[in-house]
This record gives sequence, structure tokens and C-alpha cells, in this order.
Amino acid sequence: MTQSPAISVESLQKTYRDGFFRGRRIEALKGVSLQIERGTIFGLLGPNGAGKTTLIKILLGIVRKSGGSASLLGRPVGDRIGRRSVGYLPEHHRIPRHHTANTALEYYGSLSGMPIRDIRRRTPELLQNVGLTGWGKTPVKKFSKGMQQRLGLAQALMHDPELLMLDEPTDGVDPVGRADMRAVLQGLKSEGKTIFINSHLLQEIELICDRVAILVQGELRREGLVKDLTQGGRSDVEVTLIGSESIIRTALGDRPIAQWTAMEAGQYRVALGLDHQPQVDECVDDLRQAGVSIVGLGRRRDTLEEAFLEIVADDPASAPPSSSSS
Ligand code: ATP
Repeated sequence: MTQSPAISVESLQKTYRDGFFRGRRIEALKGVSLQIERGTIFGLLGPNGAGKTTLIKILLGIVRKSGGSASLLGRPVGDRIGRRSVGYLPEHHRIPRHHTANTALEYYGSLSGMPIRDIRRRTPELLQNVGLTGWGKTPVKKFSKGMQQRLGLAQALMHDPELLMLDEPTDGVDPVGRADMRAVLQGLKSEGKTIFINSHLLQEIELICDRVAILVQGELRREGLVKDLTQGGRSDVEVTLIGSESIIRTALGDRPIAQWTAMEAGQYRVALGLDHQPQVDECVDDLRQAGVSIVGLGRRRDTLEEAFLEIVADDPASAPPSSSSS
């Protein structure tokens, strides 16, 4: 029997009623369809107001959908058993400063109805999972932001959920803390967990996610593997060259130059619009014949941020991602 996806959303709609006598309709989701396979790390992206938080809230059973369907691990959203298989790390979560890591886990675990004996039994393993072994008795106020986020993750993992929903898990965390978090998430993925991340930090998403979806004004604009999105339509070849500028330009002839950058030590980095390998080979031959040294050569891919900006660029209401709250 094939397993149901971790998350399945079909023609999902949400219309808020707002304003005077709730007469203003805001279509936050306009028929979104999405499938997220188990055991993957999935990133949800979108400019402010795109509907990301609304989608997460519907999946968590906090907000009611207006139309369509959504299920988690094969069960309709809102279903109690299904919800028990989900761990959630909310955005801007704050662990009260008087707690130690151990008492914080006891507090949050008991809120979810877990017997204290089970919580205590599970705590050392959880702290180990998130790289906090030996920190159980330390007050949370001594933790860095990254450690606090990993403790938040331990809290979300307390009941051993299959699916983790993480809202801005590395917001405000320094690069070392983000690398630690990535390692923890990769470890969880290798255990078979599914991880759904909502984040404005596109570089993080690019480093960790298998697939991403881009939501703009309540509509799904793109969904796919990160590497497919970043390949985009661009077919630039980037070469780093040593030689005189005039000789390089003559050797390149009328080949389309997408970007020309003068670097240190008499080097030039040039992006060329060359689609096919024979064109690249011919260009290399011409440069070498002109006595130009080729220091580096590679195909240039979009970063996820560039791909994202291209996708939302034709949308006047869309702003680039910011670190503002969801
Ligand atoms: P951000 O990244 O800024 O948090 P988002 O992608 O999470 O944005 P949502 O918060 O889901 O977007 O909002 C989508 C749209 O729905 C916006 O136009 C927002 O103003 C509207 N909206 C969200 N919640 C409500 C609500 N409770 N009542 C009325 N309108 C709402």
C-alpha cells in the first residue's frame, strides 16, 4: 500500500471577512494545491501577505478553511489523532527565562498532556538530538538564541511527532547557530521525519530544503526541487580571465556579455550567455588563441533569492522577503 503524503492540500481556499460589519473579503488562499512527501524537508516561501501563515494555521487546525481540502499524514486537518503526529515550533517563541532546559521541557510536555515520568525519561535523548547534552540544568537565560531555538525544537519533538512544522526556526540566530540547526534538522530528516519550514531566510531554505513552494497573493506560483528553481532560464557561463581588457573583448567578439566585473590583480569575471557546450568550447579556444589565461570557468546558477525575486517581480503588490514577522 502506498503511504499518504505528509501534507496534502487540494484547491485550498481561505476568505477572511474584515472591516465594517465584516463586509470586506480578503482572499488569503485562492485554491492552493500542494503535496509534500514524507521524509523530506520542504520550504514555504512568499512575500509578506502571501498567505503562508494562513496556510500553516489551517494545517494546524487553528484557522478554518473556506473551501477545498487539506490533510496531514492521511488525516483531515483538525483530526485529533493526526494533530498528535505533528510538532510545532512557532515563530518568536520565548521560553520563560527562569526555566532550565529540563524544567522547560517538563513545562511544555505537561501542557500537551504527557505524564511527567515520560517527559523525564525522554528529556536526555531529546537534548542529545538537538545538541544540548549536558545543558539540562542550565538556566535558559544563559542560552544563545540558537540554543534557545534548538530547545524549542526539542519541545516540538517531545511526543515524537512524524511531522515538524517550523515557523522561522533560525530567525535572529547567528551563522554558527544556523549551521547547528541545519545539522539537527538533517539528522531528523535521516530519521525519517518530515520537516515543513516557513522562513524569510532564503539562503537557509536553499541550503536545507529538498523542495520549495512559492506563494504569491494566495496563489501557488511555483513548486519544485530547489535545484530546478535555481536553474531557471539562465544559461550564463562565468569565466575568470587574466589578460588585457581590449584583447579579451576582441576575442569574445559579439558573444552576449551578461556581466563584466573587473577584479583585483588584473582579473576579469565575465558572464556570457552561452547555451550549449560547443559554444563554450569555441569561446575557450578563441580566448586561449588570443593568449588570455582562463583562471576559472563554470555555469552560473541563480541563487534561490534571485529565482524568488524573478518569480515575484511581475507582481506589483509583492515586496522582497524581509525579516518581519508572519
Ligand atoms: P507575512 O509574511 O507578512 O506574515 P503571510 O504570507 O504569512 O504574510 P498571511 O498572514 O497569511 O500572509 O495573510 C494573508 C492575507 O490575509 C493578508 O492580506 C492578511 O492581511 C490577511 N489576513 C490574515 N489574517 C487575517 C485575519 N485574521 N483577518 C483578516 N485578514 C487577515
